Amino acid sequence: MSSVADRLREVRARIEQAAQAAGRPPSTVRLVAVSKYHPVEAIREAYAAGQRIFGESYAQELAKKAEELADLADLEWHFIGHLQSNKAKLVAAHARVVHSLDGMGTAKELARRSTSRLEVMIEVNVSGESTKHGVPPQELDELLTGVEALPELRVTGLMTMPPADDPATAASTFGALASLRNLHGGVARLPELSMGMSDDLELAVAAGSTYVRIGTAIFGERPKRD
Ligand SMILES: *Cc1c(COP(=O)(O)O)cnc(C)c1O
Repeated sequence: MSSVADRLREVRARIEQAAQAAGRPPSTVRLVAVSKYHPVEAIREAYAAGQRIFGESYAQELAKKAEELADLADLEWHFIGHLQSNKAKLVAAHARVVHSLDGMGTAKELARRSTSRLEVMIEVNVSGESTKHGVPPQELDELLTGVEALPELRVTGLMTMPPADDPATAASTFGALASLRNLHGGVARLPELSMGMSDDLELAVAAGSTYVRIGTAIFGERPKRD
């Protein structure tokens, strides 16, 4: 079986190839290693192999791991899961970036708890699936304007996920997010696009992704939750 360090190297090579194929400098695509459900030992392995940005989806899991790994001073936590208002305090305390903001209520709560102009991206439900989180495209303008009015937060971009049951639509989902960015001020207002996971990172980089969020391809299958 290959190690976390081996798989991390493979993922970095995939990113580099995809960036080059798209005529982009590889450094414009940052890798978020999604460590949810995986033990802190796996995170230490990735850290030892040079990885610094880690993504977590659950506030309590993030807080616990951040405390256990507090000795890794330059490790950077990104929150990528659905954000509930009552968890805003935990998330603001530990994350440098929130990828998944999708409502004004949680934005205000995050702002209230933020101590450092927290960087946020707005999650957009591009496909309109009813089961998914994210703001519908037609409500993006209002949410963006509202969040930008909060001085404690700094909006830097948009995030999306393709429909889980229909991976064939990944390319069109990513293209749609890039178009929405262009419609709402372009790179000047929204420099970051958070899109692309283990199975579709090449498509995301081709569409302009600046943050890919990769779990399985680095850490293996996620252990079952208890
Ligand atoms: C779990 C998760 C990922 C990672 O998915 P993989 O397919 O394991 O790479 C990326 N983004 C979000 C929002 C996630 O919840």
